[in-house]
Amino acid sequence: MSIASINPANGETIKTYEAHNDDQVTGKIEQTHNAWLKWKLTTAEERSTLLNQMARVLNNRKQELAKLMAVEMGKPVAQGISEIEKCASVCEYYAEHAASHLQNQIIETEAQKSYVSFQPIGVVLAIMPWNFPFWQVFRFLAPALAAGNCGVLKHASNVPGCALAIEEIVQQAGFPEHVFQTLLVGSDKVDAIIENPYIKAVTITGSTQAGMKVAQKAGSLIKKTVLELGGSDPYLILEDADLELAATTCTDSRLINSGQSCIAAKRFIVVKEVAEKFTQLMLAKMKVKVMGDPLSEQTEVGPQARIDLRDDLHQQVQASIEKGAQCLLGGEVPEGTNAFYPPTILTQVKKGMPAFDEELFGPVASIIEVADEAEALAVANNSVFGLGSAVFTQDLERGQRIAETGLEAGSCFVNSLVKSDPRLPFGGIKESGFGRELGLFGIHEFVNIKTVYIR
Ligand code: NAP
Repeated sequence: MSIASINPANGETIKTYEAHNDDQVTGKIEQTHNAWLKWKLTTAEERSTLLNQMARVLNNRKQELAKLMAVEMGKPVAQGISEIEKCASVCEYYAEHAASHLQNQIIETEAQKSYVSFQPIGVVLAIMPWNFPFWQVFRFLAPALAAGNCGVLKHASNVPGCALAIEEIVQQAGFPEHVFQTLLVGSDKVDAIIENPYIKAVTITGSTQAGMKVAQKAGSLIKKTVLELGGSDPYLILEDADLELAATTCTDSRLINSGQSCIAAKRFIVVKEVAEKFTQLMLAKMKVKVMGDPLSEQTEVGPQARIDLRDDLHQQVQASIEKGAQCLLGGEVPEGTNAFYPPTILTQVKKGMPAFDEELFGPVASIIEVADEAEALAVANNSVFGLGSAVFTQDLERGQRIAETGLEAGSCFVNSLVKSDPRLPFGGIKESGFGRELGLFGIHEFVNIKTVYIR
């Protein structure tokens, strides 16, 4: 079997890779397990030095890696450079903080000494998506290595070049051989990999459907999972919002990565009295965005990552229009053998339409009008997803109350777009998944939280 890299800007095949066969996969997992037996004995200082070296390698190679993403999955180069810088920052974060995050925690009991120790568990399988082909992997990899674990990666089938580049970066940084390896396999091989006894846990970032399958398999073998799945983030625009700020932030969030971000703003829930003004502001901002060649520094919106994904998105838009949504901008497939889809705005979106019920993984904004804050919250929470959320209001106490107790999501940002940050935990509730990445909580997901009791 072979795995092909296809440039979504023109449909050309860049390179074809031979997939690893079953024996190669088993052999690589065993090598990584053997590497772990030594890696788990390294000190926090040794791991920290290597993580800092990895940050330097990433920063030195950021132009070249951004170009690789541009041709493999269409990310505009300027955004690609930021992504690589962010990968370097998560390496630096754990280089600096892992030792304190993993420090023994003394708990006073009647014993002479009792405490909690955080021990590595072994080889973790990471199943990753193409949308942030480096960031998604590094936000798993940096804390995993810092905690004394090792990893194998099954990356999305359309980004094999990025997957192999990550393996190379780890080697270039000077990590011991095999602590991290890429497995070039299709998703049909995942069950067998989870069954491998050297695989101790699984983390998947991807669609809810894939997460369900992986969690089912891992659960049947009592292997822990972290699930970072889909989302349909609601952004509430209340009557006292700074509308200029809200429209700018909402547009930027909706168009991050050409609309293909799990935490992009997807449903804009706007209180009636400001709905027309907000919609016009957003329209003005969405329609001037520059769509084009991802290799150009000026490009703000590149192609979608694959033609089939673009076609699925267009079908969701069409089905929503058939059910009564109005298309204010975009909504048409450009000509040619490429995967472009223009910034699109749908208004009068309601429950029962794909634009409300499903995740729209592309540059399509769904505007939903509501009477007041209470209805805004009810509409926002009327979703199977619970990843990120945001609220725009100039009353910060009101914003904080809604953020803390009103919106059902793994995070809520007030007057800001939802973003991941190495210092803050990241993850979802409901069908957006469970478990957390990043920060203190992230590094504690794949460790044995071990009680030690000395009488
Ligand atoms: P996807 O189709 O679910 O693929 C994600 C990964 O899972 C790929 O490596 C894929 O391999 C693999 N996979 C697919 N089906 C599988 C199965 N049945 N068993 C085992 N592995 C399977 O998702 P995508 O299209 O790449 O990414 C978009 C989705 O990811 C969106 O829903 C988005 O919201 C979500 N996402 C979530 C987060 C988060 O942090 N919560 C972040 C980014 C993206 P193949 O490529 O070989 O099929």
